[in-house]
Amino acid sequence: MTANQQTGEGVRTRFAPSPTGFLHIGSARTALFNWAYARRTGGTYVLRVEDTDRDRSTEESERQLLEGLAWLGIDWDEGPFRQSERGARHREAVAELLETGQAYRCICTRDELEVRRQETIAAGGKWTYDGLCRDREYAADCGEHTVRLRLPETGWLGWDDLVFGPSGQDASEIGDRIIARADGTALYHLAGVVDDLDMDISHVIRGADHQPNTPLHVAIYRALDADPPEFAHVPLILGDTGKKLSKRRDPVSVQHFRDEGYVADALRNWIVRLGWSHGDQEVFSRDEIADLFDLEGVGRSGARADADKLAWLNHHYIQHMDLAELLPLTSPYLERSLGKPVETSPAIAKLVDLNRLRGKTLVELAGHTAWLARDEVVFDPKAARKNLTPDAGVLLRDLAARLAVAPAWDEASLAAVFDAVAAEREVKMGKVAQPVRVALTGGTVSPGIYETLEVVGRDLSLARIEDAAARAVKGEFSS
Ligand code: GLU
Repeated sequence: MTANQQTGEGVRTRFAPSPTGFLHIGSARTALFNWAYARRTGGTYVLRVEDTDRDRSTEESERQLLEGLAWLGIDWDEGPFRQSERGARHREAVAELLETGQAYRCICTRDELEVRRQETIAAGGKWTYDGLCRDREYAADCGEHTVRLRLPETGWLGWDDLVFGPSGQDASEIGDRIIARADGTALYHLAGVVDDLDMDISHVIRGADHQPNTPLHVAIYRALDADPPEFAHVPLILGDTGKKLSKRRDPVSVQHFRDEGYVADALRNWIVRLGWSHGDQEVFSRDEIADLFDLEGVGRSGARADADKLAWLNHHYIQHMDLAELLPLTSPYLERSLGKPVETSPAIAKLVDLNRLRGKTLVELAGHTAWLARDEVVFDPKAARKNLTPDAGVLLRDLAARLAVAPAWDEASLAAVFDAVAAEREVKMGKVAQPVRVALTGGTVSPGIYETLEVVGRDLSLARIEDAAARAVKGEFSS
């Protein structure tokens, strides 16, 4: 099937992760770009798990991968296929290449190759396989052997990269590479190309770290008498410092950002902008990504993973999301911070709604909300020492007595009581409001004091203020 870029007819993309660790944001970006390109063109998106490295691939890693994709809203149309289940097909392809003379058996051992490699390098040369077995025509019964692809001795192995433009390498620089091991299993390069062919992949969109492999892939397509797909290599992701993102130095797993309280909409939006732009638009919903993504918008220079921008996007989405959507997202973080299940009461819903103005992450939002879900106030010692002095205790007792007989529990009635207490005691409003805030929440961060009192409600507010007042008068918080 030939791909038509204009209409997207026959566009088939794939994400082909190796399940050897967590879902890295670089892989997530590859997954997203391939997804978005398929969606934009009305094509098909295939998921293929490249688990042929049995020592490094784990089921746990595959599970995390699928979960990460689902969380980011990246859905696939076909798969997940497992490369390990296609071993017979890969062997068949190797046999076919041997049959057509595009590949040959090689009996050079690892040690022999190493000696010759060292000699070449010592003589100032660049090592590629020296072709010793190339014309020896060993048969299947030649004993232990690998299989090598027969490359033309010279000739350009090129492609017109949809991001980097004309690219390639001369065959002489690559040499005859192994495509099947001594045990008969195919190497990744062969397996990947055969799978892309069988799965009719029209566009291979992948990280620029794969660019050096592509000439070999082009050679494999030719040897199999097939047309290579379109290739688009996307630039590296750089850390905040402008250096290549490092697994050790930088936070790089999707799970990390999820744990830190970033919402999927924000992370997806941040990731799609790592290397891709559309005018100067910064905010892209999932649907917009699917409508607007194109490869022309992918740049060639490294994309900086700017943490401030992610924080800004996260705040944006938290602020604008429907409360009905935000609440279930916040709950797990609330439960994590309290260590117990929490029922989202209308009061908690209201507090989340008030707090989202200042919460940059779900972790912060939950942190600012947890106090309301606790049975007992947990006092921050510093805040209590400063604000719940014996004098403040007396003030709170007086305030509580007046609040108890306030005609209503609304802003106007509450403000009247606060104003009267502040005026009579000749203190600034802060001297009244802050002790109340600490009495209610245990800390110094909450929405406006009247809003907070309204959220907590009359009975619980009075109970908490009276309790804090009694303890403050006794000097319990002073030491
Ligand atoms: N399994 C390879 C990787 O995870 C995929 C390479 C490709 O996309 O062709 O890097």
